[in-house]
Amino acid sequence: MDNEQPTSTPSAPRRSAVRYARKQYWNEPEMTWYERAYLPEVLKGLAITTGVFLRNMGKWLTGRRGAVTTYYPEERRADFAPRNRGKHILTQRPDGSPQCIACNMCATVCPAKVIEIESGFDPNDPAHPKYPVRFEIDYSRCVFCGLCVEACPEDAIRMQADVPGLVSDDRYNMWLTMDEMLTWKPQQDVAKPYPPKPVPLTRGESARRGRDQ
Ligand code: SF4
Ligand code: SF4
Repeated sequence: MDNEQPTSTPSAPRRSAVRYARKQYWNEPEMTWYERAYLPEVLKGLAITTGVFLRNMGKWLTGRRGAVTTYYPEERRADFAPRNRGKHILTQRPDGSPQCIACNMCATVCPAKVIEIESGFDPNDPAHPKYPVRFEIDYSRCVFCGLCVEACPEDAIRMQADVPGLVSDDRYNMWLTMDEMLTWKPQQDVAKPYPPKPVPLTRGESARRGRDQ
C-alpha cells in the first residue's frame, strides 16, 4: 500500500506495461522436510488428479451430470449468478476521468492488503485535487470480500458479475491495472446514473436538520 504524499504532476501518464519489483509476501509458505523431498507431494497430487479423472470418466460414460467442465480460459461460463462479484471496476465521471479521489480508504480496509494506489495532485481541479496515478489490485491474494466497495465514499469502485482474464502461471502477473478497471461508462448505465440523484430527506431528518441549524 502506498501512503506517499501526492506529487505535483497534474497530468502524469497512466501506467501501461511497467513491471514492478518482486514483492516479499508476509505469508510466504515455509515447507516441511516432507514437502521439500518433492516426490511424495508430486505423487499425492497425481493421486488426486487420477481420482478426479476416473470419477469424471465414470460420470461421462454413464451420462451423469458433472463430468463436463468449462475449458477456462478459452471458454468462459455464461451462467454466473447475478450476485456474483468477481471483478472490480473503477467508475468514471462523464468526462472519462476516474471518480476515485485517491483517499486510500479501500486500501486501508482491505483485509488482504492487495490494493496499491499512487496519488497525484491537480491544483487546477479544486473539486477533486487528488486523483489516482496508479491503482492496482493483486488478484492472486484478493478474497473478493467487497469491503473496498463498501468503504469507498465516492462510489468509485464496484464489483461486477465477471472474472478478469488474468490467467498466468506466475502470480506476480495477476495484478489488475487501472486501465483494465476503468471500463464503466456512466452514460450507458441506466441503473445507476452519475451524478446520483439526491435522495429526499425523511420527515424526521428534515426536523433534525432544522433543529441543528
Ligand atoms: S474485495 Fe476484499 S480482498 Fe479484494 S480488494 Fe476488495 S477489500 Fe481487498
Ligand atoms: S476507490 Fe474509493 S475508497 Fe478507494 S481510494 Fe478511490 S475514492 Fe478512496
